[in-house]
Amino acid sequence: MATDKTKKYRAFKMCQEAKIEHWFLKGHKDADLGVYCNMFSAKTVFEGQDGGVVTALLVKGFKKGLFDSAIVVHHKGGYKAEAKVAKSAEEAIAAKGTKYLRVDVTAKLRELVDQGKKRIAIVCTPCETKKVRKIQQTLPINCQITVIGLFCFRAFNKAKLKEEISKRFKVNLDEAEETRVHHGKFILHVDGKEHICQLKDLDSAMDNVCAYCEDFTAQFADISVGSTGSREGFSTVIVRSKVGEDLIEKLNACIEAVDKASVAKLVKSKRERAEKASTS
Ligand SMILES: Cc1cc2nc3c(=O)[nH]c(=O)nc-3n(C[C@H](O)[C@H](O)[C@H](O)COP(=O)(O)OP(=O)(O)OC[C@H]3O[C@@H](n4cnc5c(N)ncnc54)[C@H](O)[C@@H]3O)c2cc1C
Ligand code: SF4
Repeated sequence: MATDKTKKYRAFKMCQEAKIEHWFLKGHKDADLGVYCNMFSAKTVFEGQDGGVVTALLVKGFKKGLFDSAIVVHHKGGYKAEAKVAKSAEEAIAAKGTKYLRVDVTAKLRELVDQGKKRIAIVCTPCETKKVRKIQQTLPINCQITVIGLFCFRAFNKAKLKEEISKRFKVNLDEAEETRVHHGKFILHVDGKEHICQLKDLDSAMDNVCAYCEDFTAQFADISVGSTGSREGFSTVIVRSKVGEDLIEKLNACIEAVDKASVAKLVKSKRERAEKASTS
């Protein structure tokens, strides 16, 4: 049973979210997917994590002069990751691929704003998307932020994942050439060899914060991108704003229909997990 404090917090949160939707988003509101105006599956010429859509959007934004900087995430020594600023299409391409860790991107956003940058793209997980929108509300109107959100069911705690991978496959996570999550499986390549396990077998390696997180599809982004709902090699794309529509327009990509139901299933499953964690 929710206490008065919990009820007040929920009401405050709903009010904040409604403000973000009103100011930044466009389209109809779906109970599972949030506000959106278009949704499809796409494959680009970039060999990204899935359909390379995020990289293609960043490249297009730089080439059309829509961005002067983009905040992306790079691997840094072993299985660690950090936010970095890309200043060109080439630097955005160098950041492709998912790093399954929770990375703070807002510190870099503040730095860019302080430097006077006015056309900033930012790639982030749903938790960071909300923080970015809060910062954006404090910025002058001529500072254009484009938020590309990634679907996210969980991030890993690096130390716990390393231990679990070592126990399970007898390999060192820091030497991984690629890690991928697809259709409920965790796929790892080390020394040219593929190792696969069910994602649920890695639950103990999840970042603690993620258990309380409710947003799977980055509901407050201009464009959300993930793999769920698309076949191998394609990305699911949800367009949520005028800024997103302008960026996606005439994107050079092969487009096909998306499986909305499988996205909605994970949205519900993530909400249920958060509800359970916050009441236990
Ligand atoms: C922690 C995490 C969990 C995810 N879980 C799911 C999931 O359960 N289901 C699902 O459908 N999709 C999930 N995704 C999204 C998916 O893995 C792909 O990132 C997405 O489909 C985009 O693919 P792409 O080929 O368009 O990206 P690419 O063209 O390869 O570009 C990826 C971009 O993401 C940036 N990036 C990489 N890691 C991070 C990070 N940790 N934080 C912020 N930016 C980052 C890179 O800098 C790059 O710009 C997850 C992503 C993350 C970061
Ligand atoms: S599950 Fe939530 S808290 Fe964890 S990284 Fe993804 S968006 Fe952030």
